[in-house]
Amino acid sequence: PTIGVVRESNDGERRVALVPKIVASLIAKGVDVVVESGAGLGALIPDELYTGVGAKIADPWSAEVIVKVAPPSDEEVGRLRAGQTLIGFLAPRNQDNQVAALKAAGVQAFAVEAIPRISRAQVMDALSSQANVSGYKSVLLAASESTRFFPMLTTAAGTVKPATVLVLGVGVAGLQALATAKRLGGRATGYDVRPEVADQVRSVGAQWLDLGIDAAGEGGYARELTEDERAQQQQALENAIKGFDVVITTALVPGRPAPRLVTAAAVEGMKPGSVVVDLAGETGGNCELTEPGQTVVKHGVTICSPLNLPASMPEHASELYSKNISALLELMLVDGALAPDFSDEVLAASCVTREEGVS
Ligand code: NAD
Repeated sequence: PTIGVVRESNDGERRVALVPKIVASLIAKGVDVVVESGAGLGALIPDELYTGVGAKIADPWSAEVIVKVAPPSDEEVGRLRAGQTLIGFLAPRNQDNQVAALKAAGVQAFAVEAIPRISRAQVMDALSSQANVSGYKSVLLAASESTRFFPMLTTAAGTVKPATVLVLGVGVAGLQALATAKRLGGRATGYDVRPEVADQVRSVGAQWLDLGIDAAGEGGYARELTEDERAQQQQALENAIKGFDVVITTALVPGRPAPRLVTAAAVEGMKPGSVVVDLAGETGGNCELTEPGQTVVKHGVTICSPLNLPASMPEHASELYSKNISALLELMLVDGALAPDFSDEVLAASCVTREEGVS
């Protein structure tokens, strides 16, 4: 088939779905690749690097398979034709309209966020590859907003204590945040409602905060807390948060608004100059005082809610994403032709425009 790599149109989106190194490996497997002029520019990849590995610079929208990063805009959905295949983040739980429009247009759409979190699919797991970027960057952001050092310093001018960093929600982003905070010399503590995470937290040299709530749900995700559990959690966190210089929140429940973990009272209890970085802004935020996309100061505490952090590291974020996309593509290629086998659970789950029961 021909694979089309489009130039992303969303504001601030600097990633590209396939980088030249991965394009080269796909071309070696017998596919053609068409790249929209300027598609790689946000990630500092000029057109010549694509043509250098054998891709064509042309209109990618008529290709058999179109690969993207961000969910398609209405205008982009309008460019697609029946029989085409689209692969990318499609936010299927939040953008039901878009999925319905793709279905109505006869487009076969694969949502990378719907790929099951099983060992065999780890190489295709774009949620994880991009969450690593977010987790890492969240700590750098906290460090640069902080009025205090992260590491302990012993100097002639005095000794500085290490920053205390609390990470709420220890999935992929949270674990990377803990590891990054440790590397910067901070004292890191992790909290999650899935008790199985405790060992992973300790494995990166962080402490585990146990609040006695077990809300492990299906597929390795958390379930939403009951009213009582939520009240108990907010109270316990309010007491714990006071003692931290930095709080990084990453807690998500699939298909639900972000759980409120940091109340206004908890922020008020923090020392002025402390920092909260809320990675859940896109689904409403984990902190009550979060303003998605903004950095605000409330009660002397800086609260940042950056959106789309992976786009702020477009080079490595694109490189990792490309590997995810090419692995998914390879799963669909049979003797150089696109022939997805829907008895494969990875393809069945990630294809969001298939009629139920059709194989
Ligand atoms: P996520 O982004 O859905 O959520 C982030 C974290 O928030 C999760 O750890 C969740 O438990 C936590 N959380 C939710 N509600 C909370 C609350 N009220 N209080 C505190 N924490 C709360 O998570 P993710 O990074 O996508 O990871 C989800 C799961 O998938 C994890 O078990 C992860 O290890 C697993 N995973 C498996 C694979 C694989 O085996 N292929 C790959 C990646 C992730």
